[in-house]
Amino acid sequence: MFFSETIQYFKGVGPKRAEVLAKAGVKTCLDLLHYFPRRYLDHSNVAHIIELDSVGETVTIIAAVTKVEIVRGRHRERLEVSVRDEWNGHMTLIWFKGIQWMSKVFIHGHKIAFTGEVSRYGNKWTMIHPDFDRLDEGGPQLSTGRIISLYPGGARLQGVGLNSKSFRHIIYQLIKARGLEFPEILPKWIRSNYQLIDGRVALRAIHFPRNHDELDQARYRLKFEELFFFQLVMQRVKKKRAEQSGIKMKHYGTNYKKFFNDILPFELTNGQKDALKTIERDLFSGFPMYRMIQGDVGCGKTVVAVAALILVVDSKYQGAFMAPTEVLAEQQYASLSRYLQPLGISVGLLIGGQAKSNRDQVLAQIATGTIDIVVGTHALFQKHVTFNNLALAVVDEQHRFGVEQRASLVAKGSNPHVLLMSATPIPRSLSLTRYGDLSMTTIQELPKGRKPIITKLLWETRRSEMEGMVMEQLNQGRQAYIVYPQVEESEKSDLKNAEAGFKAWQLICQNYQVGLVHGKMKSSEKETVMMKFKSGYYQVLVATTVIEVGVDTPEATIMIIEHAERFGLSQLHQLRGRVGRGTHQSYCVLMADWRQSPESKERLKVIESTTDGFKISEADLRIRGAGDLIGTRQSGLPEFKLADIIEDDKIVYHAGQAVAHLNSTDQDLNLPEHQYLRSHFEQFILSRMEGFARMD
Ligand code: ADP
Ligand code: MG
Repeated sequence: MFFSETIQYFKGVGPKRAEVLAKAGVKTCLDLLHYFPRRYLDHSNVAHIIELDSVGETVTIIAAVTKVEIVRGRHRERLEVSVRDEWNGHMTLIWFKGIQWMSKVFIHGHKIAFTGEVSRYGNKWTMIHPDFDRLDEGGPQLSTGRIISLYPGGARLQGVGLNSKSFRHIIYQLIKARGLEFPEILPKWIRSNYQLIDGRVALRAIHFPRNHDELDQARYRLKFEELFFFQLVMQRVKKKRAEQSGIKMKHYGTNYKKFFNDILPFELTNGQKDALKTIERDLFSGFPMYRMIQGDVGCGKTVVAVAALILVVDSKYQGAFMAPTEVLAEQQYASLSRYLQPLGISVGLLIGGQAKSNRDQVLAQIATGTIDIVVGTHALFQKHVTFNNLALAVVDEQHRFGVEQRASLVAKGSNPHVLLMSATPIPRSLSLTRYGDLSMTTIQELPKGRKPIITKLLWETRRSEMEGMVMEQLNQGRQAYIVYPQVEESEKSDLKNAEAGFKAWQLICQNYQVGLVHGKMKSSEKETVMMKFKSGYYQVLVATTVIEVGVDTPEATIMIIEHAERFGLSQLHQLRGRVGRGTHQSYCVLMADWRQSPESKERLKVIESTTDGFKISEADLRIRGAGDLIGTRQSGLPEFKLADIIEDDKIVYHAGQAVAHLNSTDQDLNLPEHQYLRSHFEQFILSRMEGFARMD
């Protein structure tokens, strides 16, 4: 088989290069053809140094090396490579790392393409750590209309002479010598419905495009393929799950009715009602539920979960409620108990910081079924915890957990139903992929009477204005949060910041009581401080992110977030949700140094301009990239080679449509027209995504 042939014996490869390539994941013909260029170069995208006008822009220049020099700076040394381009523009390229090695790479007179972000140093144009490609040594000449592909490199590949030029050479030889002896894998109906070019043309053109049009079509086709196969895998996982049997609830019992008639102090919003109905349908279906409820902070996800838990208890099963931190677990324990204890439902708490005797008792009660509902941290899902008959596991603030926790969850009991809850919604394109096997329910509305929070971004220079805003709220009898970044094990300075802030605020508002809470405190101490804030003893609470989720203090109407640039967007959104919980107008002030990267400023402006969780998570995804937002490793999202889950969300959608159509017409790929699709999928795709597909 052409695709699975190893490349070692190909012209230009050999054992040494084969070994290095294998480490980079390139072992077979298929891998090599799928080792896609990271960038292309032609006359239309090369900038001239004399025409540069703004710092921060990413450009490519082609220039000859005029000087290579290691400069000893005050703190560390750097490599400076001076270059000149065809219009006599000068630029200095700077490296702080790999100096010795780099200094040998650049040779006087060599012509090189550099790509990077332009900056200005004194009166010189510079780029720091640009990407580069050598263009001479008999390499390609950049003539009009010619597009040259540049390949991902790295020191290891360069070490065995594998630069862009050699990649071009090896791939060219491969295609020339062997032709493209493989069948088209996508059936005709997909190609014509979605206007995809032939797979062989695409693979040739992505490496050796004749023009931009062809290149665009090649990229489109290959992105489509990537997203199509990914969703096909997800579909399989979902199907497998749906074929398992789940615990079937028997009836709406007395507790459930009593909860709505006598205990719940308000009426559910329409969004809550719909979400609950959907969950109930799942619980009565006989199939295992795997559902996420997403809805902004404050939309009231907890009561929906509580109602579902009661339903489970009414059918004589156990339920679990998992919170991301101990403080939150304790808090949710308290609020769940308020609802459940009047019904005679027993609620237990299981957290890491518990006294051993207490803990052992709870463990025993979970095992015998004396406890109906247990609230806890991930301690709940460790090995030694045995449930009597767990039927529903609720995971609150799901964004804080990784996918791997799901496995340990499902292992408890006989395939319990899983309900995830998150205030950080998942952008549409992601919901078609990573969460392809997860059912989604969204609660759109907030309970009546809530006013949207007003958010302001202030640079450090306007600190007194912020203080004025805080005083104004305090003078009206309201409360304020002052939030500092997390106290990390290694970073003592954060704690110092919070402690200094605590002292400063005691001076600023001498007529008011100020409390301090941070992650280094014992959970009982944290609890005491937070309860004192909630009860109104403290008017100001200086805190680290331990307050991120859950503390419900309706009189708190202003939140100041210090060093806002150090928080993630979802985290800022989450934090801000601590205010605006009552009927008063609430405020959130983001304090930041104005010397921020444009990207950082853009992020803060997103939070300032919207309270729509969807917009925020989409912006976060766009600015940081998908891998970063959910952590590629923990999300189980494969690294797409070409596709970008945000930019290409139309392709995600179309590929998903094709998968859906395939499922409804020939889901086992038995038709002759799906013969090659099936063999390719089984031989190359499933094995590669095995880890992903096996995650349950
Ligand atoms: P989140 O979705 O952020 O987890 P919570 O479940 O903590 O929100 O609910 C936020 C607050 O709104 C709680 O104090 C809760 O009691 C209250 N709440 C929930 N649903 C309603 C409702 N339908 N009407 C009025 N208040 C509600
Ligand atoms: Mg919540």
